[in-house]
Amino acid sequence: MNKEIIEHLGQIVSEENILLNEPMSRHTTFRTGGPAALFVKPGDLDQLQGIMKLVRNLELPYFVVGNGSNLLVSDKGFDGIVVSLERFCELRLEGESSIYAESGVLNSAIASFARDNSLTGFEFAAGIPGTIGGAMIMKRRAYDGEMKLITREVTVL
Ligand SMILES: Cc1cc2nc3c(=O)[nH]c(=O)nc-3n(C[C@H](O)[C@H](O)[C@H](O)COP(=O)(O)OP(=O)(O)OC[C@H]3O[C@@H](n4cnc5c(N)ncnc54)[C@H](O)[C@@H]3O)c2cc1C
Repeated sequence: MNKEIIEHLGQIVSEENILLNEPMSRHTTFRTGGPAALFVKPGDLDQLQGIMKLVRNLELPYFVVGNGSNLLVSDKGFDGIVVSLERFCELRLEGESSIYAESGVLNSAIASFARDNSLTGFEFAAGIPGTIGGAMIMKRRAYDGEMKLITREVTVL
């Protein structure tokens, strides 16, 4: 990947959160996949917006990854920027009966959090592999439960 692009990214995200030729096998449940030319881990919305502006302005190929539970990456890898949301992991109560979860939080963690706070509704998703961001985009369901039935609000970039 072009040095200039790496420098641009370095102005948005700290160095330790930009990985070069990162094996995607480290980021997929099936442990398959060759290297991503750049693997970047934004830590907040400003950084994520900065990265998205960069990839759009320069028309760079990019891919967003959650927990990698639903991904099969080729051994050839990905010649572009993989944007990982693993650092979007805030999880807290909002009011008395809602949960606020950032896109990188695992469904299993939300289910445990709901149980610990005596909230019901998320039980169906406890065993669905992946993050809440992945669940939102893929409209996850299991048993009689469905994400759309328990979702109050989603922030979309
Ligand atoms: C063993 C097994 C059992 C499963 N059981 C169920 C089940 O019972 N019910 C069910 O509904 N599903 C089931 N799934 C599918 C699973 O729910 C999906 O794999 C999961 O929702 C994907 O989430 P992830 O964070 O791992 O996404 P990833 O695998 O990382 O990504 C999947 C897709 O979502 C996109 N994506 C991920 N996060 C975001 C984000 N924040 N913003 C934009 N795009 C994003 C990625 O670009 C990619 O296209 C199962 C999967 C496995 C492997």
